[in-house]
Amino acid sequence: MSKSHVVVVGGGVAGIACADELAQEGLKVTLIEKEPEIGGWAADYCCKATDRCNRCFVCVADKERNSLQLESKVTFQTNQMVHGVERNRSGYLLKITDRVKGVEEDVHADAVVFATGFTPFDARKKGELGYGRYPDVITGLDLERMLRNKGNVFKPSDGEVPGKVAFIQCVGSRDESIGHLYCSKACCAYALRMARVIRAQNPETEIYFYYMDIQPAGRNFDEILSACEEDPKFYFVRAIPSKIYQYYQKKGLMMRTLESRRGEIDEIFFDMIVLSIGMEPNKENQGLWDQIGLENGSEGFVDPLSSPEGIFLAGTVSGPKDIERSIMDAKQVALSVMKFLEGKG
Ligand SMILES: Cc1cc2nc3c(=O)[nH]c(=O)nc-3n(C[C@H](O)[C@H](O)[C@H](O)COP(=O)(O)OP(=O)(O)OC[C@H]3O[C@@H](n4cnc5c(N)ncnc54)[C@H](O)[C@@H]3O)c2cc1C
Ligand code: SF4
Ligand code: SF4
Repeated sequence: MSKSHVVVVGGGVAGIACADELAQEGLKVTLIEKEPEIGGWAADYCCKATDRCNRCFVCVADKERNSLQLESKVTFQTNQMVHGVERNRSGYLLKITDRVKGVEEDVHADAVVFATGFTPFDARKKGELGYGRYPDVITGLDLERMLRNKGNVFKPSDGEVPGKVAFIQCVGSRDESIGHLYCSKACCAYALRMARVIRAQNPETEIYFYYMDIQPAGRNFDEILSACEEDPKFYFVRAIPSKIYQYYQKKGLMMRTLESRRGEIDEIFFDMIVLSIGMEPNKENQGLWDQIGLENGSEGFVDPLSSPEGIFLAGTVSGPKDIERSIMDAKQVALSVMKFLEGKG
């Protein structure tokens, strides 16, 4: 088994955790990542600590990435895209393109782990919310990057700290109109944690949190939720906003909402609106799934039950998960890979 070669495709948090676990067991492991850097989406996220750590797991992902780069026995190749996979008698042959040099290479693997992740929902598909047209309508991903790179929240239109911010939950998830009925599982937690960061840094800023349901995720979630509920400048509104307009005279965004309890239409002004986007299946690898007979489940993510022998799925490729669950899943998958290779002899 120790001479077996495992290829992990995708260097996000799941691919990194799985590759590291396998290498620690003495296996030869190659991690292939198509982007110039490993880390996946989580490499762009911010620390969500206020006066204390709020357990968002982003630094755990950062630490695992750094230790893979500095200490681990995993061989990792970046700028390499896996675009083909063929089964042969001894395992699989992966077809890999070097995206910088433009050359192709075939690599043999006794087992393959696909940790190819998700695609963030493209908020432009919800045209009525104005993303891409109104500069101060941003996504949760934009806010993650803003807090990571700039350390505070600023309106893209004029660089000022907003006085009144709305978060709209379930953008691209739990939405019949776009055929996504599933919950993305991470967006309530990331939105509440980032809203806490905004409040902690800007005591004058008010937060309005528009939601249908709150999905708990991660450690100390109840504590975060209670802190938001007890905050006098944090307002929870159970309603789905239907449309956002830019109001030039008042220099603000007007949001139209159907208030479910009163059954009335509300129109409220905000300085900035954050769309809490969820996760979609990563469609760019559909060709790979077709080549090896992997099927998509009802939500469009890859169904792990359809995996042929020697092919494994780790992290969000098989469905939405937060970082902690992606890492736990990846470690569990590493155990399954070892069991499979032991059986092969
Ligand atoms: C806006 C937003 C904020 C979030 N914030 C948090 C948070 O604060 N805390 C938290 O716990 N969770 C958060 N999450 C969830 C978190 O993003 C995921 O749990 C985590 O990123 C999943 O990692 P992954 O490795 O499965 O996928 P990814 O991060 O998508 O990694 C997959 C990797 O595979 C590579 N790849 C894909 N196809 C190929 C191919 N064919 N060949 C080579 N490489 C390939 C990709 O380039 C990518 O690097 C958030 C999610 C969103 C949408
Ligand atoms: S878990 Fe999140 S909030 Fe806590 S220190 Fe790490 S990055 Fe910051
Ligand atoms: S985690 Fe929250 S915001 Fe995200 S889809 Fe589920 S209920 Fe909606």
